[in-house]
Amino acid sequence: MKGKELLAQLHEAASSPKKQLEKYLAQGKKVVAVAPVYTPNEIIHSMGLVPMGVWGADVEINEAKKYFPAFICSIMQTALELGIKGEYDGVSAIVIPSLCDSLKCLGQNWKYAVKNIPFIPMTYPQNRKPDYGKKFTKAGYARVISDLTIATGAQFSEFALAESIKVYNEHNAVMREFAEIAADADITAAARNDVFKSAWFMLPEEHTAIVKKLNEALKAGPKAKGKLRVLVTGILADSPSLLKIFDENGVKVVFDDVAHESRQYRTDVPDMENPVDAMAQKFADMGNCTLLYDPDKNRVDYIVEQAKAHKADGVIVLMTKFCDPEEFDYVPIKRACAAAGLKHLNIEVDRQMVNYQQAATMVQAFKEMF
Ligand code: SF4
Repeated sequence: MKGKELLAQLHEAASSPKKQLEKYLAQGKKVVAVAPVYTPNEIIHSMGLVPMGVWGADVEINEAKKYFPAFICSIMQTALELGIKGEYDGVSAIVIPSLCDSLKCLGQNWKYAVKNIPFIPMTYPQNRKPDYGKKFTKAGYARVISDLTIATGAQFSEFALAESIKVYNEHNAVMREFAEIAADADITAAARNDVFKSAWFMLPEEHTAIVKKLNEALKAGPKAKGKLRVLVTGILADSPSLLKIFDENGVKVVFDDVAHESRQYRTDVPDMENPVDAMAQKFADMGNCTLLYDPDKNRVDYIVEQAKAHKADGVIVLMTKFCDPEEFDYVPIKRACAAAGLKHLNIEVDRQMVNYQQAATMVQAFKEMF
């Protein structure tokens, strides 16, 4: 199959999650929704369940306003709105991690607002690296396993988890390879996003099979020329209108530090005797992320290092409106980019944005700086 056809397949999955949900339900599978940013998907998968991402959508907010104040990120607001409106009906449960204050509120509001889909909390420790942190993470996983069994009847086994870990580690490797190949391949920002977005709505083994072929097609295909090379950072880079502005202005995403994209695939589950210990170790090993305790702000150095490694001309920060963790990181990122001689642009993004004229002007002006 040609690259274009593979991308079309991934675009279809990325743009119609409901169809994907219905497909898996028709196959007799049970689906478990997973909220941003990190959930133990390997565990869910190992129990024979299909994890599917819930990152909100570009929809109007009405019902969710009864539960959330206006100044909370629109990812949470629209996820709840979709839940209340029945868009996730058929899903057996939702796992919501405790990684930021807004996510903690989502879990509590979900219990009252969406009664037909049980809420399963995944409580992570602040200090994830010491032994007591890993023990805490393991206790969180035990709770998820027990609640999944209650909600779905599915059983857990360490043997099945070890197999699912292999599936997920392979998917991570294929996605990392894709990100590297896409840095120089002739692929639009919108198509690049489809590859990452579709992963949230497909079983990892199915997604791996398609992206493997895509990687081969991109390697053999033409290279992008004459573009402005940027590293994009933020929670989400999923707005078709904004990605169209990138593509129209010759802005090429050569790497990302986006929670919805590459941050998911950086860290593998290590090879350890007990797979649940290995899962907790994976969480301990993760880093360079707004949502993970990072007192030295290693994420900032990571962004500069990756921008240089991928020969980026500049950095574009996609700042999710009302996202406190990301807002706290912005000033250090700005200073580090200036010190490294990297031009940067900060664009505020919101699931409710309808007018992109300001963003288009900013991108055009940014381009003219080079
Ligand atoms: S990290 Fe930011 S964007 Fe993500 S749920 Fe929390 S506030 Fe919203």
